[in-house]
Amino acid sequence: MTESANPSVYAASDRAAALQQLRQSLAQRPPRLLIDGVWRPALSAQTLEVDDPATGEPIARIAAGDSGDIDLAVAAARRAFREGPWPRLPASRRAAALFALADAIERRQQEFALLESLDAGHSLMSIVNGDLPLGLRSLRDYAGWATKIAGEVPMRSADQRGMDYFLREPIGVAAIVTPWNAPFLMVLQKLAAALAAGCTVVIKPAELAPLSALYIGELCDEAGIPAGVVNIVTGTGVAAGQALAEHPDVNLISFTGSTQVGQSIMAAAARSNLKRVVLELGGKSPAMVFADADLDKAATAIVGEIAFKSGQYCAAGSRVYVQASVHAPLLEKMHAAMQRIRIGAGYADGTDMGPMISDAQRRRAQDLIDHSLAAGARVLRGGHARSGPGYFFEPTLIADARADMRVAQEEIFAPVLCVTPFADDAGLSEVAALANDSRYGLSAKLWARDIGTVHGLIGLLETGQVIVNGGGGEATLPFGGVKQSGYGRENGHVGLSAFTEIKSVRLGY
Ligand code: NAD
Repeated sequence: MTESANPSVYAASDRAAALQQLRQSLAQRPPRLLIDGVWRPALSAQTLEVDDPATGEPIARIAAGDSGDIDLAVAAARRAFREGPWPRLPASRRAAALFALADAIERRQQEFALLESLDAGHSLMSIVNGDLPLGLRSLRDYAGWATKIAGEVPMRSADQRGMDYFLREPIGVAAIVTPWNAPFLMVLQKLAAALAAGCTVVIKPAELAPLSALYIGELCDEAGIPAGVVNIVTGTGVAAGQALAEHPDVNLISFTGSTQVGQSIMAAAARSNLKRVVLELGGKSPAMVFADADLDKAATAIVGEIAFKSGQYCAAGSRVYVQASVHAPLLEKMHAAMQRIRIGAGYADGTDMGPMISDAQRRRAQDLIDHSLAAGARVLRGGHARSGPGYFFEPTLIADARADMRVAQEEIFAPVLCVTPFADDAGLSEVAALANDSRYGLSAKLWARDIGTVHGLIGLLETGQVIVNGGGGEATLPFGGVKQSGYGRENGHVGLSAFTEIKSVRLGY
């Protein structure tokens, strides 16, 4: 179990052959849902096309599930929860199944990497060094937590009779609704937490990149997870996602996606049965660079992060604030780093940055940029799509983006950085005010060596995460946002607790 794959396992020629084989097998796959251990078409028999964002060409068809399929899937998950073995198994058996699932995925990691690259467009390198090892680490971490879920016996006074304690029980049927920007990782980390807790699940993956979820589903049986525990309904957000959010027999919905849909899910949860919600939503994260920072490292990392997934990364630092005295050199270094980005199909040799997920997403980015230019911002590099097939967008540097402009306030979800200087003598509270000037609060990046600056700002930032001097996601550290970036946290025992419910007990004497 290495938890880190090596992309060189694919010589270019092997990769081409594997890709061709994968395309053939995808073209032949019947569009199916997984309900109660059986793969079957949607009740409506409708299907949806899935495209390769690097070419815009179709690669597969998926079943277009709707509320009828969701009803069947939730009923199967409820039966498996009430009557099936999964919640009643010794926790070590659930742990063993999760470890087996991780091993099964790892055995097919090259196929998963290619599949994810083909489906979501990301560079193989970003998947092999990011999503794949993170997903496997999350799965194994949660396998370990399965045997450590415990209630408590509160301290009591000597004259107290009887006994008080509380139990932690699985919450029941958990719905998992995921976005297209990290489909494999999002599905796996939610699934791992839910299964470790003893829940049964219905997964509704993003319709734009649903394939890795289906492949994970195929390995559940092999890993020893009983029928009905994991159900997968593909389909659109409106037809399948909303039916899950409104379903009266779902106990929790763990959602990652846009703030707008998060709000509608919360409203549906309130309207239906007050199901619990965990919401991992959008972001517009600040990156603050101080004059004493390692500028080369900062420039490379900030540009690398916005190129990672073509800017379609919720925690990416897309608003850059830089101390005035290093503004010019930092811009120069960032510009140079952007020039070095090799753009191409995610699965092609040497690609650093793949396409965006869809033309609609790309047009939205263009619209936001054009709007800011009309309002007085300046494009220093990029600012437009690449011509030709696929949904490619030029890495973009924008200056003079005032805080009230849409480009500085809205999540663009494209490889676009807005860079703004702050005065050399600005106090920490002034810098924090710039960083906090957002309805989002997911992540903040800080580049500084002075320990007083670092600690001072950490205390002032309104975000769920602060990354100091580089580093990305970590599967075992709680992750989530404040403000309109959502609430609840994923990862580790904090993430696990969302999938449990507390039952307090008083034993009389
Ligand atoms: P989205 O909100 O459009 O869709 C996410 C999922 O919700 C999809 O499966 C979609 O089909 C479903 N959905 C759509 N409408 C629905 C409805 N009315 N009811 C129920 N489900 C519905 O998001 P997206 O465009 O797929 O993903 C991009 C967004 O995800 C960005 O805003 C990004 O910041 C966010 N994101 C957040 C995190 C995080 O951890 N905070 C991580 C990744 C992505």
